[in-house]
Amino acid sequence: QAKNQGLKTLFFNDKIGRQARERFALETALQTAIHNEQLRLYLQPQYDNQCQITGFEALVRWQHPEQGLLLPGRFIPIAEQSGLIIDLERWVLKQALMAQQQMSSPQAHYPISVNISAKHFATEDFIATISELLSETQANPGLLVLEITESLVIENLEAVVEKMDVLTQIGIQFSIDDFGTGYSSLVYLRKLPIAEVKIDRSFIASAPNDAVDAEIVAMIHKMADFLNLRTVAEGVETQEHVNFLSERFPNMLHQGFFYSRPQPIQQILDQLTQQALL
Ligand code: C2E
Ligand code: CA
Ligand code: CA
Ligand code: CA
Repeated sequence: QAKNQGLKTLFFNDKIGRQARERFALETALQTAIHNEQLRLYLQPQYDNQCQITGFEALVRWQHPEQGLLLPGRFIPIAEQSGLIIDLERWVLKQALMAQQQMSSPQAHYPISVNISAKHFATEDFIATISELLSETQANPGLLVLEITESLVIENLEAVVEKMDVLTQIGIQFSIDDFGTGYSSLVYLRKLPIAEVKIDRSFIASAPNDAVDAEIVAMIHKMADFLNLRTVAEGVETQEHVNFLSERFPNMLHQGFFYSRPQPIQQILDQLTQQALL
């Protein structure tokens, strides 16, 4: 009894104990948030070298009742560890597919990219989930891009490719996110049925002033080009980035704060309407 009490005190008094409780509280609150319309869909546009919008990336936010608007860095890791990520991404997928419908007109339509965690992709009913959401929303699978990371294929490459092939056959495209970090390998570009590579923003940030990073970007781009894959530069923040990238890689797409921050869907719709792009 006394020993138990001692452990309890230790647990609740130290810093780790406090963090664990905060985490647990956030996890419980996140569960509520997903089902009580506290999540928000933000979209960030991507551009070609003519400054035309080519598509959007869906990025989730959490409108926390007390803490305000939270960025994914605060809750995605918790969602991944607790398994809530599956419900969360289901919500994001559905919102993104509905947004895709709202952004479609006879003269324009825009693909939307959605981030998919390795945990979600690995679920047995991932394909069924996607098909269900597509039929529920009547969205066009040809305008859905799923952003995955290489952490997906650490286990069984064949099984991953097989699953991706099924989805590719119904028109869905895949993009490799944060390429160049982690276990990135040019082999994945060849083996995975992907349409797009997103070059991690850490390389883009330094490329204009760092010959090694510039060469890494050039190498990824060259390989992607050769395989007919689109490349997207992430984290394009400055005019210097834009100039450097458009000069060296004219067909690379750009995404970043230089052009636009992620914005709520309604703001995007208003802008597209104003610019007569819808
Ligand atoms: P990511 O997939 O690499 O998304 C791009 C992140 O870079 C976004 O951060 C975006 O706001 C930020 N960003 C865009 N342009 C710039 C720029 O010019 N400079 C800088 N410094 N940052 C820029 P955000 O929205 O905070 O999201 C962070 C991460 O959270 C995402 O990184 C993604 O890994 C994850 N995430 C967001 N939504 C989802 C989701 O629905 N599911 C999953 N699994 N992860 C998500
Ligand atoms: Ca992404
Ligand atoms: Ca990324
Ligand atoms: Ca990232």
